[in-house]
Amino acid sequence: MYEKLALYIDGEFLGEEGRKTEEVSNPATLEVLGQLPHASTADLDRALAAAARAFETWRHSSPMTRSEILRKVGQLTRERAQEIGRNMTLDQGKPLAEAVGEVMSCAEHCDWHAEECRRIYGRIIPSRKPEVRQMVLREPIGVCAAFTPWNFPYNQAIRKICAAIGAGCTIILKGPEDAPSAVVAIARMFHDAGLPPGVLNIVWGVPAEISDYLIRSPIVRKVSFTGSVPVGKQLASLAGAHMKRVTMELGGHSPVLVFDDADIGKAAKQLARFKLRNAGQVCISPTRFYVQDKVYGQFLEAFVETLKTVKVGDGLDPDTQMGPLAHARRIPTMDKFVENARQLGGKVVLGGERIDRTGHFFSPTVVTDLPEDAMLMTEEPFGPIAPVVRFSDIEEGIRRANALPFGLSSYVFTNSLQTATRTSNGLEAGMININHFGSALAETPFGGIKDSGIGSEGGTETFDGYLVTKFVTHV
Ligand code: NAD
Repeated sequence: MYEKLALYIDGEFLGEEGRKTEEVSNPATLEVLGQLPHASTADLDRALAAAARAFETWRHSSPMTRSEILRKVGQLTRERAQEIGRNMTLDQGKPLAEAVGEVMSCAEHCDWHAEECRRIYGRIIPSRKPEVRQMVLREPIGVCAAFTPWNFPYNQAIRKICAAIGAGCTIILKGPEDAPSAVVAIARMFHDAGLPPGVLNIVWGVPAEISDYLIRSPIVRKVSFTGSVPVGKQLASLAGAHMKRVTMELGGHSPVLVFDDADIGKAAKQLARFKLRNAGQVCISPTRFYVQDKVYGQFLEAFVETLKTVKVGDGLDPDTQMGPLAHARRIPTMDKFVENARQLGGKVVLGGERIDRTGHFFSPTVVTDLPEDAMLMTEEPFGPIAPVVRFSDIEEGIRRANALPFGLSSYVFTNSLQTATRTSNGLEAGMININHFGSALAETPFGGIKDSGIGSEGGTETFDGYLVTKFVTHV
């Protein structure tokens, strides 16, 4: 049974009941899964009022109470992971093992926030006079509006919700209309864990209309968005015009530097598998592959051979290693990248086209001999396409890696400690992974610099965007 889709406002699940609806379908089979109710303006007003009312109580709740609820949600996440993962494979397309893995890793996010919210400390500042006491308090910022995408429907939403709720804020979240089951499941768990009505509210609708309405509302004090750079800039501008705090987790174009002293066979295999995770629809996906001259041929061969063995299919099939793209509009986007590469003299050495079967399937694709200004080298493909090009020395590698306005993740493969140090100092990115993929754990900060965003989620930084600083002095 697919998730019963609903809005969640002021502690109530609300179905179609005369509202506009949107069809949700399976990207692997095109089968219709359900109807998603859209929030009316009255629903949004109700969510805003509920979040404002609930904030007055929740802001003063004990961190022990918040911790207990977050921990309970972590426990329910583990119990319900199979069912939630299956529904996510149905509406988002990723292989079942990846979907269940995403949900299970989110239980750790709940646990982490449950622990850390008990450590939101202020501080005492030594005063200039003995009779004066000076204190810094950290208080919840208020009602938050959050917008999360379809590539990691559970993960992106739970991180924002746990951070807001753990900090003592209340939140209205609009999840991904293309893949809504995970967010509805999250609402059911917080409901079952005893979260007071109004602390968490879930709405659906036309993204631009909902974000515009919520960000302009004087009730909302903070905006958090995960998605593309252009939309992030638009929302951050609107939030700025109304002087609201933002957290922006935006796109990337992660460079990979493979040096000739690396274990090339191992690097090629690991990178091929990581590239196809979630069919490449990952903001930290390795995107531009720079391989040092001497090992270019060896890397390319091993990389392509591994990609060829990947089984593409319906995510519910246990043999599937890569599912479909999440929605129909991704296919023409992939075609555009390949067409542009061909026009500029690029060689498509693997794939390059949609797979001829029902569903939004695109073949794992490798393109070589591309100029630096090709679309693939400058815009986020967000799909299973990898451009592989050469570089000669470390200075050139770092310079080309830093050449784009993005700064999310970077990958380096080397066995030289000196190269590891120089690249970790020189690369302009929020996250640098050397010889393995280690980002996005609950205890580590996740976020970008430059156009890739503002602020971090996870790690001890996780509550920073949800707190304000208050200075108190008394005699
Ligand atoms: P898109 O830019 O239209 O949408 C991306 C996400 O933002 C979607 O979830 C969408 O619902 C939401 N969105 C769009 N306009 C919005 C608005 N005005 N207000 C609030 N939310 C809004 O593109 P798409 O075709 O859905 O996805 C493709 C691109 O999005 C990719 O190329 C990638 O750059 C980016 N993306 C990034 C992430 C990430 O994790 N950073 C996730 C998903 C998509």
